[in-house]
Amino acid sequence: MTLEELDKEYVLQTYTRNYTNFVSGEGSTLFDENGRDYIDFAAGIAVNSVGHNNPVLVNALCEQAHKIIHISNLQVIEPQAKLAEQICKLSNYDGAIFFANSGAEANEGAIKIARKYGETKFDKKKFKVITLEHSFHGRTITTVKATGQESFHSPNFSPYPDGFSYVNSIENIYSNIDDETVAVLIELVQGEGGVQPFDRDEIQGLYKFLKAHDILLIVDEVQTGIYRTGEMLASNLYEIEPDIVTMAKGLGGGVPIGAVMTKHKDILVAGDHGSTFGGNYLSTTAGLAVLEVLSKLYERDELHETFIHFESKLREIAKKYSNLFEKEVGLGLMRGLRAKDAQTVALVVSNSMKEGLIVIKAGRNTVRFLPALTISRAEIDEGFKRFDKAISSI
Ligand SMILES: *Cc1c(COP(=O)(O)O)cnc(C)c1O
Repeated sequence: MTLEELDKEYVLQTYTRNYTNFVSGEGSTLFDENGRDYIDFAAGIAVNSVGHNNPVLVNALCEQAHKIIHISNLQVIEPQAKLAEQICKLSNYDGAIFFANSGAEANEGAIKIARKYGETKFDKKKFKVITLEHSFHGRTITTVKATGQESFHSPNFSPYPDGFSYVNSIENIYSNIDDETVAVLIELVQGEGGVQPFDRDEIQGLYKFLKAHDILLIVDEVQTGIYRTGEMLASNLYEIEPDIVTMAKGLGGGVPIGAVMTKHKDILVAGDHGSTFGGNYLSTTAGLAVLEVLSKLYERDELHETFIHFESKLREIAKKYSNLFEKEVGLGLMRGLRAKDAQTVALVVSNSMKEGLIVIKAGRNTVRFLPALTISRAEIDEGFKRFDKAISSI
């Protein structure tokens, strides 16, 4: 059987897959089985934050694997405690963390904290959570319901949990709050929804309002977190301190990990929540290595320089191909080109692959760029050269 046949026979076909067989990577370059190289502008959907085969991450993982990979959360786990400290310190957040294994799970944890807050802090129970249209919060039954896209709420998987409602703008959150509303859950830059950042003043206004009315603000930083927008958290960039922040994608550099951080440290108590794998030796060691690499890049201002270079290249291409793209969107290294239609996006993505460049789609009509934060200038330049070639025929 070919690899494609093997996959189709034995793997549940829940994805529309590309069948290029990648066998190794170095920095932001991937190699397929024929030795052909590809510039990686997707980083495993914002996951490979320090690139492929990063020596700091790989050495830390190998060293830890030789010692202990996993014990369980019935024991204290040194790298877990240290990673929790690092996340709080680097994001300047006065809180504590629960570790899970994915973004959806981190959001599940956030919703549980909010629900218990609503049950225990008020005379009358509060349980409703408001989210935004075009949001994305995960694929579990609850987080898919929290996701404000009708297409995700298929009757095939119903019934869904109650208590979620959606609004189409930050402004419309206010009129949808009632005396049962316990939390508002938002992304600061909608990733899957089309790389759409919200206005800073609007977010700060919402933050102040919710705080004054004792309604929790949950920020889903599964995609925006871990320096993707230029600060440790997008919440730092927007200068807000949410009640709850969730993280996942970039945190482990490819090793599955999720985290929910909150300043309400007393809500969850022993027995309220748990995870077998969450925060084990391997994943939290990965998190520590990733933060070591990225915090240095940030402090030396190199991250900022990469952003500026990437942005200038992206603007150039957006201008050159104004026949294909309406505008350039996003922040930091979470970027997109809003195409005229969905068909153009599909062509751009497939032509890019043929030219040796990986880009992905977001929302209905956005070409998305989420390269490793360690990407080099040479890789950026080469990537855009290939991109130019890929789209010149469209
Ligand atoms: C990817 C993503 C999720 C889901 O993360 P998984 O690890 O796939 O469960 C949730 N929220 C946002 C904003 C995401 O980008």
